[in-house]
Amino acid sequence: MNKSKAIAAWVAILTISLALAGCAANADSSASSSETNEAQSSQAASASVLPGQLQSIDYLALVNKLNPLPEGWEDSLETDHFTNTVGDDVEVESKAYAAYLDLKADLEREGVHVDLDSARRSVADQERIMKEFTEEYGADYAKKTVAEPGYSEHHTGLALDLYLIIDGKDVVENQDMMEYPEIWEKIHARLAEYGFILRYLDGCEHITGYGYEPWHIRYIDDSTIAKEIADQGITFEEYKAGKVYPEVSYDFGDSKLYTREELEEAAVQVKCNFAAWDGCELHSLRYAGDDCNTPENVKWLNEIDEGAGYTQVVELIGDFHSPVTEDEPSAWALDTEYTDYQWWLARTGDDGWQLVSSGY
Ligand SMILES: [Zn+2]
Repeated sequence: MNKSKAIAAWVAILTISLALAGCAANADSSASSSETNEAQSSQAASASVLPGQLQSIDYLALVNKLNPLPEGWEDSLETDHFTNTVGDDVEVESKAYAAYLDLKADLEREGVHVDLDSARRSVADQERIMKEFTEEYGADYAKKTVAEPGYSEHHTGLALDLYLIIDGKDVVENQDMMEYPEIWEKIHARLAEYGFILRYLDGCEHITGYGYEPWHIRYIDDSTIAKEIADQGITFEEYKAGKVYPEVSYDFGDSKLYTREELEEAAVQVKCNFAAWDGCELHSLRYAGDDCNTPENVKWLNEIDEGAGYTQVVELIGDFHSPVTEDEPSAWALDTEYTDYQWWLARTGDDGWQLVSSGY
């Protein structure tokens, strides 16, 4: 494959998955959805683990609506099973389970009782859940609430959904659990010590892709990092983006349209996207200027994301370096500086930015 073709193919795949998912919930095209599934299954098919080859999972792996379960994950995963108080079998990654038992025992000393509703789900499980939610609540709600199979953090075995036991009664339903903010506060305060983080923060749907879920916690096997994330009050996406590209320089210019904070939010989306570009290094991001928000550009992005109803556009331009070695398959030319690459984001009213297109 020559360079320009390779880039075109890569950008096409990227644009499809972005248009579909973004960092925020935006999956409403069934045509795009099957393309993403195909892209993902071909990726899975290329994974190969030699017999006897020891691998370990990356406890800091980012799995979200943009980043699927890493290749080979299920071959390396070790899990434990137990039966919860409502009689369901629950499967958890082994280290996460041990840490959870310590957390649970600690909480019990404070009079807080919890159990696990769900932890590891296979891709097939996720497909079944999507089907059930679609039948019960309709496709729109299901796609907003349930992760696309292959793109759920629950596939890792490291994402745990807690439920509460109050006066000996199981409180399992989401809306019922929301009635106990003071209990969640106690639970959240103990998470970091045991290597867990709260994954879907209140008000961060535009970054994580999910609304507030006080029950969904994620094991990252490092209490220092967990504490750093909790203390900063940031999402895992922001932590990963900041760690992977600590040297990114920004130039947000002097916009009359957007505040610096709004442009920073757009930059976070770009970094979330960039986090999936294995081996690439992002150097800089700059705002293209208020001229990017033309009616033509609004129309163009609405044509890509049919029915999105975008009203505003932001263009960010960046420079990055392609992988230096061939460790990761990449469509980019090896060890090359790419300049003036464009990321196009759009939003509707006060909703968060969606990354809609990127390329030259
Ligand atoms: Zn969950």
